Amino acid sequence: MKLYNTLSKEIEEFVPNEKGKVKMYTCGPTVYNYAHVGNLRTYIFEDILQKGLEYLGYEVIRVMNITDVGHLTSDGDVGEDKMIKGAEREGKTVYEIAEFYTKAFLQDMKDLNIKIPKIIEKASDHIDTYIKMIQKMLDDGFAYISNGNVYFDISKAKDYYKLSGKNPDDLLIGVRNTVSQDMAKRNPADFVLWFTVSKFENQIMKWDSPWGVGYPGWHIECSGISYEMLGEYLDIHCGGVDNIFPHHTNEIAQSEAYLGHKWCNYWCHGAHLNDKSGKMSKSNGEFLTLSLLKEKGYSPLDYRYFCLNSHYRNSLIFNYESLDIAKNALTKLRKKVLALNKLEKVEEKEKQKYITEFKKSFENDINTSLMLTKVYDILKDTTINETTKFEIIKDFDKVLSLDLTKENNINISDEFKAEILQKIAERKVAKENKNFKEADAIRDELLKKGVKLIDGVDGTTYEIL
Ligand code: AMP
Ligand code: ZN
Repeated sequence: MKLYNTLSKEIEEFVPNEKGKVKMYTCGPTVYNYAHVGNLRTYIFEDILQKGLEYLGYEVIRVMNITDVGHLTSDGDVGEDKMIKGAEREGKTVYEIAEFYTKAFLQDMKDLNIKIPKIIEKASDHIDTYIKMIQKMLDDGFAYISNGNVYFDISKAKDYYKLSGKNPDDLLIGVRNTVSQDMAKRNPADFVLWFTVSKFENQIMKWDSPWGVGYPGWHIECSGISYEMLGEYLDIHCGGVDNIFPHHTNEIAQSEAYLGHKWCNYWCHGAHLNDKSGKMSKSNGEFLTLSLLKEKGYSPLDYRYFCLNSHYRNSLIFNYESLDIAKNALTKLRKKVLALNKLEKVEEKEKQKYITEFKKSFENDINTSLMLTKVYDILKDTTINETTKFEIIKDFDKVLSLDLTKENNINISDEFKAEILQKIAERKVAKENKNFKEADAIRDELLKKGVKLIDGVDGTTYEIL
């Protein structure tokens, strides 16, 4: 398996610490709002990585955190607390906000056929671990207390900039230009491990600690949860490219300071999904959520297909034209696969040949578009029977997860189903009132959303195109 490693900036042969077993940590969402489809692109890439490794025969133990405390609006130590901001926006408590958006996130994952990680941990459930780690870093001279907060001293870290490849001088210029520079830090790039002196008087989530009542910084959460759930050695750590600096850089600094040895061997980062104005965000322009796409008549798997068509290390521009193309291609593909007959004898040798090619595409730094191309190659192949084709594609779908062989695939939400039935009822009334213009308008509106109405003797049914 060849995998690009952000740490070495090279494509490397992947060798886990323990034969046949992969310990994988993936940074989870900050649950102060819905995930946007950019965030979801990263989770789709991580899902393919996990499932592809499992397809190769590895046992994958994957851990994900849910950040419900400590993440500020800037990824450094300036700005407002994201959770408090979310709670104020909605007039709720941070606990309510966290619970609501965690549920929404898990629903998005389910809709996208993303395998929910075996271990999902809330940041606020591991305070004792952070305190233990921070105390050891203080004892060993990696951390210091200043003006009440506990900071990590980056000058004590071994090669602090190795992951990002950043130039410390450039960063210093950036920091000097920041208005809200924290004067309590020894080095401007030091980061907070524990806040006690809080800018956020209305912080509800706070805990007792040897350094006073406060709460953990964002970075220590992932180091702590990974250590507690997966032990001292990690094989793969993933996230989006924005996590490289400072989040993952700080994770490495504090984990290795605490453990006293190298922590994680492979760092894999997904490129961003951008909109035409640049980086997708929750505050600029149209807030693109999976629910919004569903409202517009796309199925979550149309979006998954759209993502799989491009390589995870290339940034991708979101637009509805490209999503339409993905939707149509996936619909056609499913139709072709479902039309294959399932009555012939599977040609095992041919099946294995294609499986080997599919694995090779995955092993080539997760080449998802090539993995999809294999599906089309199979359909075009005139030398194998239809049942063999169907069985191979069914096997590939364990990784692709596009429901390619699911009969009666009506992958739409219950709300959308209810909306269709409501429209069918309205159209019936319009027809009874001889208002054919309105009846036709309803039919056309649904067609635009990918729903074809079929009028029969027993009434109207529908088909998802
Ligand atoms: P957050 O909820 O902000 O902590 O982000 C959750 C995940 O989404 C992280 O792994 C980020 O690196 C990733 N991410 C953030 N923005 C984007 C984007 N525009 N495209 C792809 N991934 C993103
Ligand atoms: Zn993290």
